[in-house]
Amino acid sequence: MRPHVTIVGAGPGASDLITLRGQQALRQADVVLYAGSLVSPEQLAVCPPHCRLYDSAGLALAEQVALMAGAVRAGQRVVRLHTGDPAMYGATNEQMAALAREGIDVEIVPGVSSVFAAAAALGCELTSPEISQSVVLTRTPGRTPMPAAEDAAAFARTGATLVFFLSAGRIDSLMRHLMEDGGLAPDTPAAAVYRVSWPEERILRGTVADLARQVQEAGIGRQALILVGRALATSPADRTQRATSRLYDAHFSHGYRNALPQEAFAGACAIYVFTRRGLACARSLAAGLGLPCRIYASLSAGEAAGPDSSGLALPEVQPLDGPGLDAQLARGWQAFAAHIFVGATGIAVRKIAPLLEDKTRDPAVICVSESGAHAVSLASGHLGGANRLARRAARVTGGQAVVSTATDLNGLPAFDELAALAQARLRNAEAVRPLHAALLAGLPIDFCGPEDIFAAHLAALPSLRHIDRPEDATADQAVIWCETDGAALRRRCPARHVLVVESRCLVLGLGCRKGLPPEELARLAESFLERQAGGIRPEQIACLASCALKRDEPALAALARRWGLPLRFFAAAELAAVPVPTPSEAVRERAGTPSVSEAAALLAARDGDAMPPRLLCPKWKAEAATFALARIPHGRRLPAEEPR
Ligand code: SAH
Repeated sequence: MRPHVTIVGAGPGASDLITLRGQQALRQADVVLYAGSLVSPEQLAVCPPHCRLYDSAGLALAEQVALMAGAVRAGQRVVRLHTGDPAMYGATNEQMAALAREGIDVEIVPGVSSVFAAAAALGCELTSPEISQSVVLTRTPGRTPMPAAEDAAAFARTGATLVFFLSAGRIDSLMRHLMEDGGLAPDTPAAAVYRVSWPEERILRGTVADLARQVQEAGIGRQALILVGRALATSPADRTQRATSRLYDAHFSHGYRNALPQEAFAGACAIYVFTRRGLACARSLAAGLGLPCRIYASLSAGEAAGPDSSGLALPEVQPLDGPGLDAQLARGWQAFAAHIFVGATGIAVRKIAPLLEDKTRDPAVICVSESGAHAVSLASGHLGGANRLARRAARVTGGQAVVSTATDLNGLPAFDELAALAQARLRNAEAVRPLHAALLAGLPIDFCGPEDIFAAHLAALPSLRHIDRPEDATADQAVIWCETDGAALRRRCPARHVLVVESRCLVLGLGCRKGLPPEELARLAESFLERQAGGIRPEQIACLASCALKRDEPALAALARRWGLPLRFFAAAELAAVPVPTPSEAVRERAGTPSVSEAAALLAARDGDAMPPRLLCPKWKAEAATFALARIPHGRRLPAEEPR
């Protein structure tokens, strides 16, 4: 064998956690260069009496190399002992390069990295089905800077288990970063393991919200690993619970992050895929977005015949051929809040081109690359929520959102985005353009509307002023944000450009079993708004709608009274004429229309035939009632109003 240095992983510290091969190398060594701070003296006890030991801590790289090269040339056996496994932050590359320049090879003997010793000490598996199937071994930047794409928050968004080396001293800012920018829920399990496998080993368990305090109180600043993620069972009880409710847990971990305002989105999504790889991406989107999703697969014969085409048989995947896909896209265009293409943007752009109308009506369209690396917001970035959906999709796939709207790029709020976030609608979308131009130019804008919205998004801009009544406006531009009577308020405002936003713009379509107790209907309706519709409040609803057969149903009247809302009824024949995403033959037999809740919601939200309203949430069938939510389109004039 050519003259060489043996690089040995010493393991985390305990003398019996080194490999047999590594220990054999120490037994035969003439010279050992070891990393003093984390290599235990016990391990060096096996070295022969004549062996010379050097702590590398006090030696510069050139000195270390000179020492090793000299000994190797003198025919001695040299071991370079690293803590854990040399492949992790061992700085072995620079040693190997320098030794190579001296004509000296290296042989590497792996070791037990501290990450695995820490997992063992915590008694947990770092990968856990449906929670995390990946582990990121990383660090925070110190003297060694981090490549830009390797930001901890980006890793956090993937949901992978995170392990931080060399970072205990910066745990406070790290944990804040993971929550604020990485979207981790404050109760995400986190642990610090100090000097694992040493007599002074300490294990601190907590959450991303409280671990930093624990670590600081314990005075731990070095020689500890930080582990973060839902895969870390914090107690045997947690583990049992997780084993029994894995789905809930996965839903929860995404659920919290799905509530971030920059990722807020409500409504059903249609996902289109063209390859089997795309199908895998679509399935993870459907699982992680926290939205009702339907997958349409248009695979070529070759793709569909592949070994794992079994995925196509799953109920949530609908196979379609090419023309079938176009027809489905046209049919579902307004029925879905979002259309997600998994594949090339070119395909998406061509498919949607004939369907696009304008931004007040078009649903969100995003395109996710098959690998999940990019989620591009293609159309309806603000009003349709495509920007927010792209961010959410990118987080689910662990990729990057691509957003290109002007206000976002300039770090400014956008009025249409604020309206969309609040599920409100624009009465006169054409006023958005002059208002945004004024915003970008820093011109004065008066805002007459909810103080909380002003405080949260607009108060920081010097050009914006809150006014109490529309007639108080003195600027050329104004925004009026009200519940329902926008047209009347608009007439009282002297500003030249006035954008009118109305917050009550949803219609709840519903049906229920005869004689259902009113309390029960109210409970189901609230649960529908909260869970299925993603947190809609009754104050956002403009009216309730149902089938004429239900005119005398006390529970419906009671719900309308409870929420102070008008209740509209439609004849079965009228309802039957409305195309809906979820028709039912059983309902047709009973009620004479294949849909009550979806059709009634859509009819009540309709504006003549000009603007098809969209379902924000398709039919949800509870035990004794069904619900669906439709959105009154932007710009629609309510029939009761006189034209301006
Ligand atoms: N090659 C080593 C890592 C070297 S970098 C390995 O595979 O473990 C040094 C960092 O590793 C420390 O800052 C700490 O984060 C971690 N580390 C190494 N040994 C450790 C131990 N016994 N207990 C806890 N953390 C340890």
